[in-house]
Amino acid sequence: MVAKSKNELVLGIDLGGTKTLVGVVDRDGRILGRGKLSTPSHQGGDAIVDVIARAAETAILESGKSFDEVAMAGIGSPGPLDIDKGMILFSANMDVVNYPIAEKLSERFGVPTVLRNDVRASCYAEWKLGAGKGMNNLLGAFVGTGLGGCLIIDGKLHVGHDGNAGEIGHIKAKPNGAKCGCGLKGCLEVYASKTGLVRRFAKARKRGVSSQLFRIWSGPDQKLKSRYLAECYKSGDSLVLEELQRAARFLGGSLGGLVNLLSPEAVILGGGVSLALGEPWLNWVRTAAKEHMLVVPEDRETILPAALGDDAGVLGAALLARESRQAGTLRRRIVIRRLIEFRVGANGKKHDSNMGAEHSEYYGSTMLDSQRIQEVQGNTSCLPFLGCERSKIGLISSIPRLSFCSDEEFCLRFT
Ligand SMILES: [Zn+2]
Repeated sequence: MVAKSKNELVLGIDLGGTKTLVGVVDRDGRILGRGKLSTPSHQGGDAIVDVIARAAETAILESGKSFDEVAMAGIGSPGPLDIDKGMILFSANMDVVNYPIAEKLSERFGVPTVLRNDVRASCYAEWKLGAGKGMNNLLGAFVGTGLGGCLIIDGKLHVGHDGNAGEIGHIKAKPNGAKCGCGLKGCLEVYASKTGLVRRFAKARKRGVSSQLFRIWSGPDQKLKSRYLAECYKSGDSLVLEELQRAARFLGGSLGGLVNLLSPEAVILGGGVSLALGEPWLNWVRTAAKEHMLVVPEDRETILPAALGDDAGVLGAALLARESRQAGTLRRRIVIRRLIEFRVGANGKKHDSNMGAEHSEYYGSTMLDSQRIQEVQGNTSCLPFLGCERSKIGLISSIPRLSFCSDEEFCLRFT
């Protein structure tokens, strides 16, 4: 069996309150296949994992690849999260509390899975592959149901001391303002995201204001889709126009202040609302930002539209997983489990020297080359990581004569 080359694939998962996107991403950041399903937001974590698995099957099928070629998975999710434990602590849009989604997906796919904030993942993709490619200092603002952000400072994703840096939706936009979903008052998200727009439109409706919007959107119980806003804007609906401009003023004003603070090369404006409204929205935000910027460059625009569209979340989750040291650690754990199982057996019974033949069916197609194992058991050769397998093997304490090879990340050495 040939060891897996470094062209391994990553499953990028973009988990949203409304839809779940899964992409099979290659080493060059290309999406080879996609799967998209509605998120069962109110059916708990296990139902969400089932849907992700189904979307992954579609993506794999479309890619023409197989699960055996997948080395790891990355998932971008709304938070707050405990990224070290791979856990969604809770979510405003999904009925999930303290759910260890990374572990559940690792079990399901048989590969390590890394959990990251969804907006940070999208922004990361825009930095590496999209509108911010080649820049060292960036601010990302993603406007959708909520308002998320992220920071790239001196060529690194800035996560802050607790891993949650970038929450521009929850900086103060108005003293004693309206209550935000986070529990605070006057957050920017309340004025510059769909959550804020829903509140304003609901009020206008109560006052009897007429708008085309109210023919396609029945009120706060129905999701306000970004395309409804785009449709109404395009047909010149005055309420929608007025409210969007108001939101853009709040957003632009805050972004201008953040530009003064951080001096980024660019601010990437993304998210469903920005994507649906395009240039007019971008220009309103730019105008408001410029009014608040200490220095306005004459030769270039500071605020740029995101370039990757819907793919940003999937690509970012895959990129972050690939680059995560955590993935390396998790992956080593899986390799150790396989080796322990191979040498000791699941029942703790030691195999004899012909164990390779005996277990070739079990292991042969997916993981260990028995001859190679026996070669390296001799002494100091390295055993490359050979791929994934889906059997669940319980961790059997440590194995004394096994250590990591320091030269290659995914090699193990018998000593
Ligand atoms: Zn808030």
